[in-house]
Amino acid sequence: MTDMTGWSIERLHADHSQALRIDELLYDSETDHQRIRVFSNSTFGRVLTLDGVVQVTEGDNYIYHEMLTHVPILAHGSARRVLIIGGGDGGMAREVLRHSGVEQVTMIEIDAGVVEFSKQYLPSISAGAFDDPRLELIIADGAQYMRDCDGGFDVIIVDSTDPAGPGEVLFTDSFYGHAKRALAPNGILVTQNGVPFMQGDELTGTMRAFKALFTDATCYMATVPTYAGGAMAFGWGTDGPARAVDPETLAERFRKAGLTPGYYTPEVHKAAFALPGYVARLIP
Ligand code: SAM
Repeated sequence: MTDMTGWSIERLHADHSQALRIDELLYDSETDHQRIRVFSNSTFGRVLTLDGVVQVTEGDNYIYHEMLTHVPILAHGSARRVLIIGGGDGGMAREVLRHSGVEQVTMIEIDAGVVEFSKQYLPSISAGAFDDPRLELIIADGAQYMRDCDGGFDVIIVDSTDPAGPGEVLFTDSFYGHAKRALAPNGILVTQNGVPFMQGDELTGTMRAFKALFTDATCYMATVPTYAGGAMAFGWGTDGPARAVDPETLAERFRKAGLTPGYYTPEVHKAAFALPGYVARLIP
């Protein structure tokens, strides 16, 4: 058997794991909520794991963050208030704040530890987002916040861990129901739903709930190298017309926003909603 000393081994799935070589272990600590580690890897730069599961890397985080922000914000067209649930590394806030029309970003992160060490050990991920006056950071459970908040959000982004531990409540029907209530008219809810080839039940559960709540409920996809097992899925739910935005309008909004294409482009936006058969079959 190969000696895996010096590797970070992720065992998220029963029959599959991935390993990333640890060039240097930079941080290792246990909070009340989870074990946090940061290490460097020559391909992916600095890597953050929570309970051994890769959350974010310097090298490929732009794919995940761009696709959970620019897709709903540009499809909406006039988003002013955005809510992020989770998102402690600050990458989601970084991409939301690129949109000058966004006036207010509320971020609900359960673990102050993730925010603090991300600022210290992964500053390139938030890239100053925590200092932006438009961002309000609240340390709280996202499910509880969603139940009690006044709402009026144009876009809600659920940047959660997988449905285990503190992230589990963010995959429940009652959470989705409260999220729907917190949306402004034509508002859009997007969620991270893992890699459907490996975690099909997770997508099916979210889609079943979305179908009962929204007139437009589907998912879209992107491939993030460190989320192993194939393309990942993002849940999409709205009662508005945003998904039907025409390509020219999308291209114009993209140009006006001054975004530089990393992964997201208006063409990728449209293509991301084309679902492979095995994914379409997971949607009830
Ligand atoms: N992109 C990553 C992935 O799927 O691998 C997840 C990103 S990470 C920023 C997710 C964040 O959600 C973590 O910082 C975690 O502390 C936070 N989180 C987990 N459960 C939460 C809850 N109930 N309320 C608010 N934040 C939560």
